Parts: sequence; C-alpha cells; structure tokens
Amino acid sequence: KSWLAGVKMAPPDAILGITEAFLKDENPRKVNLGVGAYRDDDNKPWVLPSVKEAEKRVITQRMNKEYAPIHGLTAFYNKSIELALGPDAEILMNKRNATVQSLSGTGALRIGAAFLGLFWKGERMVYLPTPTWPNHRPIFMHSGLKVANYSYYDPNTRALNEQGLHESLCKIPEKSIVLLHACAHNPTGVDPTEDQWCEISCIMKERHLYPFFDLAYLGFASGNINKDALALRIFAADGHQFCLAQSYAKNMGLYGERVGSLTIVCSTKDEAERVHSNLKTIIRPMYSNPPVHGARIALEIFKDDKLFCLWLEDLKVMANRTIAMRKQLTEKLISLGSTHSWEHITNQIGMFSYTGLKAEQVARLTKEYSIYMTKDGALL
Ligand code: PMP
Repeated sequence: KSWLAGVKMAPPDAILGITEAFLKDENPRKVNLGVGAYRDDDNKPWVLPSVKEAEKRVITQRMNKEYAPIHGLTAFYNKSIELALGPDAEILMNKRNATVQSLSGTGALRIGAAFLGLFWKGERMVYLPTPTWPNHRPIFMHSGLKVANYSYYDPNTRALNEQGLHESLCKIPEKSIVLLHACAHNPTGVDPTEDQWCEISCIMKERHLYPFFDLAYLGFASGNINKDALALRIFAADGHQFCLAQSYAKNMGLYGERVGSLTIVCSTKDEAERVHSNLKTIIRPMYSNPPVHGARIALEIFKDDKLFCLWLEDLKVMANRTIAMRKQLTEKLISLGSTHSWEHITNQIGMFSYTGLKAEQVARLTKEYSIYMTKDGALL
C-alpha cells in the first residue's frame, strides 16, 4: 500500500477555487468576478505601458542571470520603502528601516510573520479585521502565531463599524499584533477616514499594540500614492515601530513576477542592521534569494523620472476606470428598477466591492447565470 494512501483531498482555495469552477463551466456568457486582477474594457489583462517600456530597457541591458543577494536588489527595496514612507521620512533619514525584497505581498507577510514568530516578546496573537483576505490567517499560523479577529465592517451599514473597531482595539490585550490594511481594504473596499486613522494610531500607541501593515494596493485605491499612504504616514509621525508588507502585483500589474518588499521599522540604525541580518537567516532556508526580473522592471520605473510619471498615469487609468465601473453598475441597477440602496458600491474604494449579496443569492447567480464570485458577495 502506498504511504500516501491516507492523504485526503485538501479543500480548494477559497478564492482560487472559484476560478477552477469557472474554467469548468461551458456557458459562453460566463463571468468570473472572483479574481483580484485588473481587466480592461475587453476583459483582458492589462500590461501597463510604463511596465512594457521598463521591461524593454531591462532586456536591452542584457544583464546576467546570476543570483540576487538573499535580501534581493538593494536599489529596488530602498526605493520601495521610500515610495511608501515618502522621501523625507525621518525613519529613512536615520536608517531605522530593515527592508528586504520579497516574493510579492504574500512573501513579505510570510517573512514578517516568521520574524515575529521568532522574536516577538508580547502576546503571540495576531488580530485580523473581520472580514479579511483569507490568506492572512494561514500565513500567521504557519509562523507559530495565534490568530484572532477585531471588528471592522458593519454588514448593516456596509461601512466601517467605527464603534466596534474602537471597542475591539480597547479590549485586545496590550502588546498584541494587529494587522491593518493600509488602503483599499480587501475584501470590503472600506477604509477608515484620516480622523479615524489618527484615532486608531493613538489607541494602538497607548495600548502598545504592534501595527503590521499590509500594503497591497498603493496608488490603486485613489490613483494617488501619497493619498493611499496616508495611514502609514500617520503611524510613522506618531512614532510607531511597525512592520510593512508591500506588493507590486496590482499597482504595477506585475502579478506573476512576484515583486514586493518587507520592512521592519526599528528604533536605531544599529538595531535595523541586526534585524536585517536576521531577516536574511529567515529567507535563506525558505527560498535562498528572490527572482530578479520583476524587481529590475520596478527599479527602472523608480529611477527614471519620466517613466515614473508614466507609471503614475497608468495607475490613474486603473483607479479611474474602477471608480467609473462602480458608478455604471449602480446606475444600471437603478435603471433596471432596483429600489435597494447601492450607495456602498460607489462609497467603497479600490478593486473590491462588498455587494452585500447573501450566500444563497451568490449561489443562484452562479447556478443560473454562470456569474462566479466569492460566497460572501465580494466582487474582486
Ligand atoms: N494582501 C492583500 C490584502 C491582498 O489582497 C493580496 C492580493 N490578493 C496580497 C496581500 C498579496 O498578493 P501578492 O502576493 O500577489 O502580492
């Protein structure tokens, strides 16, 4: 008998499983709203013109294919953290950041989680918003940390549960880790306002809660980098020593290239150097070193002012189209006679829309119309 005979079929991935079902459907009018990837008006993936140009430049340089260092391309990740914190950030001036290149956002979260799993001295509990990206839970659990939830979204108002969030943050044991979506919350598309972020920062500082920021949509939410980085900048100004996972999957459309970075903000340069050396010892047995091609493309964009401006324009194209689609969907529903309030569709931001549809309504859309989406009614 095979030693694998007892291995049971694992459940399909909550999100990627939808695509599997979609591919099997033979209805020519089928639609997949369950993938978090940007499509153009022809339902085609979009390679950003800035990325095409950057890639052309990378190829003409005919660079070798040697390994990157364990920590990746230094010039790339230095620009990456500068983009998030702003070029004048005090943290960068004093070199208090320990930053490495990562395998996109997931890889950044994974290294950050592993670091916390080894070194975190407080409560070994990570609090995630309800709801959140389904991969957050296993990422932290794989690093030996426990996972719990905090209130975030109110299904009745389809907006931020401000009171619930406040109460949660006041109740979470001090010195716990709190995961925050820096902008364009996945899957609700509901973000705190500037005042609300200030309050969250203040409570977390007072209660010694450790902020772990997941920044997967910088510039994608509003089309403006600085606007989308607001939460981070507030926390930086308030003196938090946070952890930050960055991804270029969505905002550069580099999904399959796996480009990202992880930063752990430290109190001194010396501390940052020691933390950086430990990040390398975490990465080495995981995957040795990251791929170079995607990071080279991102670096081309970062280092040339003209190309960088072109990228900002590309970002605006994606953000504006997403905003226009929200408007069109709402108008169409109203013109078809729906009296339901669909304001949340236009109020929510980023790539996701939390429709408020119930599981049985989603099941009917899938069964009768071949419209595929997650069970909780999120349009990805
Ligand atoms: N965090 C959030 C909130 C996400 O939505 C995603 C992508 N769906 C990621 C992280 C990671 O994506 P990637 O690994 O492709 O960068």
